[in-house]
Amino acid sequence: MKPIESISVFDMLKIGVGPSSSHTLGPWRAGLQFLKLLLNKNAEHKVRHIKVDLYGSLSLTGKGHATDIAIMLGLSGADPVTYPIDQITPEIQRIKKEKTIKMDFAYALTELQGAGLTKRTIAADQLEAATLSFDPALDITFHRSFLDFHPNGMRFTAELEAGKTLEQTYYSIGGGFVVTQERKRGKRKIEALSHFPYPIQKGTELLDFCNQTGLKISEVVRANERSLRSDNEINDGLDQIWATMLDSMYVGCHTEGILPGGLNVARRAFDTHKSLIGDAKYQDSIEWIKAIRGTEVKFRQILKWVSCFALAVNEVNASLGRIVTAPTNGSAGVIPAVMMYYMVIENHDANLEDVRQYLIVAGEIGSLFKKGATISAALGGCQAEIGVSSAMAAGALTELMGGTPAQVLMAAEIAMEHHLGLTCDPIGGLVQIPCIERNAMGAIKAINACEMALDADPTKAKVPLDKVIATMWETAQDMTTKYKETSTGGLAIQVNISDC
Ligand code: SF4
Repeated sequence: MKPIESISVFDMLKIGVGPSSSHTLGPWRAGLQFLKLLLNKNAEHKVRHIKVDLYGSLSLTGKGHATDIAIMLGLSGADPVTYPIDQITPEIQRIKKEKTIKMDFAYALTELQGAGLTKRTIAADQLEAATLSFDPALDITFHRSFLDFHPNGMRFTAELEAGKTLEQTYYSIGGGFVVTQERKRGKRKIEALSHFPYPIQKGTELLDFCNQTGLKISEVVRANERSLRSDNEINDGLDQIWATMLDSMYVGCHTEGILPGGLNVARRAFDTHKSLIGDAKYQDSIEWIKAIRGTEVKFRQILKWVSCFALAVNEVNASLGRIVTAPTNGSAGVIPAVMMYYMVIENHDANLEDVRQYLIVAGEIGSLFKKGATISAALGGCQAEIGVSSAMAAGALTELMGGTPAQVLMAAEIAMEHHLGLTCDPIGGLVQIPCIERNAMGAIKAINACEMALDADPTKAKVPLDKVIATMWETAQDMTTKYKETSTGGLAIQVNISDC
């Protein structure tokens, strides 16, 4: 029997840095993984030189997705959750100018020790950093060819003393997840052993557990999470995720100018927000929520607010800002925008308990897509990013609005059904056009899918969620490579960069 993957909500929603989960966060984490490998081989100070080869989609859209920058930050030992955003550009400029990289192993060792994956007992702050010569122009190579295992391949090679080498190939499989070919199989075994009380591979199984126990989806999923961490840890983690989401909306709504990358794309959330918020006074993001609740909203304003929240997050993402991968960076705006819609439009009494419930349901729906299809645009196009995020938000909103578990799954199904076949063709390989606007569309569709499901009898639904997940995966496999995050088709070639 196929083992059941135990994917946590914290695997689906991760704090990180833009612009891409598969092309930025994944390669960043791969750099960190390589530092861990060196540590586990006691080789951290035997390294003489490092080079990195990027393949397939990571190479074709890697420059626009800051893959090379992420690799350098990963090899520097930076933590993507806490590394100061304003230090990224100066540090990359320093590496390029001085042609050296300073490998700091402290964070990688802390992670290894925390997970019980090393026998080394040395304190992390006693490990000396290693400074190597490193010229990104020569030591990071972009290959147009693809590796067989997955379209997002990258190989790290360290030349060690005495002529030895250490080499590892990693694959960024979407949503910031990184695997090696060997450990992909091993990982399944580990996941099968983690024994969630409610092991769930499909929507029907989730629904069966809800029907048998009378629990809501959020309660079933929380029971599973409790087998990994305490309720306090779950709540703290979810609150941190929401704080980051809220901060990214707040920053995006209050930042004007042109996005980096050369397309000259103007930030739009700033002007839309200014016209919506009017003269309301506030000092921080918490007061901001209250201020928005005080604005008058009709249908047009609701559309604009939701779009504005989504645009704001993805403008922050496009400028290498801190966002929550949900389930990817390119689609990071949908889930926060729909939660904010609930908080400022639908329910002015909404609080952190509602946020936690929402995020838990969203994470579970995302994991159903990861198990049954993919959340990688390099495998499935944009249906795997915006489509999945829209389904996650639709289902989660439906539970907050009082929908039954069956209606939650129906809302997720409706949202995905109308994203099937959506291609990934970012202009210039940047996560800007069509990506930023697409988040606004995904958020609006999620709200509409929720309303349609709340009005429906799910027992009469013609398309169950599991069928739409299977259809999405089949569509992904039939989609040509040029529409899977390679920028070799669609808008990426129809629109001339000089027109932008
Ligand atoms: S087109 Fe969609 S999948 Fe592709 S990079 Fe943009 S948001 Fe991600």
